[in-house]
Amino acid sequence: MAVVAGVAGVAVAGAVAAGAEVSGIIVVGAAVLGACLGSFLNVCVERWPERRSVISPRSRCGGCDAPVRWFEMVPVLSYLMLRGRCSRCAVRLSVQYPLVEAGTALIWAGMAARWGAEAEAVRGAVFLTILLGIAVADARTYIIPDQFSLGGAVVGLALAPLAGGPGPGAAALGAVVGFVVMRLIAWLGRIAFGKDAMGGGDIKMMAMAGAFLGPAGVVLTLFAGALLGTVIFGPVSLRTGRLVPFGVFLALGAGVAYGWGDALVEWYLHDVLRLDPG
Ligand SMILES: [Zn+2]
Repeated sequence: MAVVAGVAGVAVAGAVAAGAEVSGIIVVGAAVLGACLGSFLNVCVERWPERRSVISPRSRCGGCDAPVRWFEMVPVLSYLMLRGRCSRCAVRLSVQYPLVEAGTALIWAGMAARWGAEAEAVRGAVFLTILLGIAVADARTYIIPDQFSLGGAVVGLALAPLAGGPGPGAAALGAVVGFVVMRLIAWLGRIAFGKDAMGGGDIKMMAMAGAFLGPAGVVLTLFAGALLGTVIFGPVSLRTGRLVPFGVFLALGAGVAYGWGDALVEWYLHDVLRLDPG
């Protein structure tokens, strides 16, 4: 689950880089909230790709079908206390559960440390949480549920006017740019390779990323995602023939674009293209 570590790492690195002085209580509170949201995120990544409800039925053990009891649902801690096994039938519990819970806790704590008690802390944490859900769902099933992509796009547009956000105009433009550029790549890929290189989930996901990042950020996401996917998964794909879960790397690219987008665009314009400001 390098994915979890990657997306969470973006949040923590951003927090450390900022070195913001934020009260520890806010950060700890954000971590607890994040862990609980991560617990729900586990249910979403498991059920949404199968078009099942995340509300009911209650979670059950995959081994003995016993309902999971409340004290077995405490994020991270329950997994550690049960030593990774069901208390009744001793079947192994997936390590995905505590990793996603810890990853989401790190995201929310990192954003609280980075932004303090500001709206951008919530907007950033919501965005990175959606990206984590997309990455885990795509890695597991090669499916990016519409709830994350289309639902996320609606959330991104709704949060865009907040202080620190891209504003409603840039968010709408970003969503359109993300969608159109990905459709274009999919169309060119079909002409070049005679088959679908890009899933519809990837296209809708980039509309979501654009709604949170604006037009420049969504273009950066595409470049960073393609680069990371080629470098990290390219060799695996060549050796095993496994399809690249492109959504995983687009999610990582979007995390990079959120954390370091402005610095990367500035570096590219000034140090690579040598365009002077003004
Ligand atoms: Zn069991």
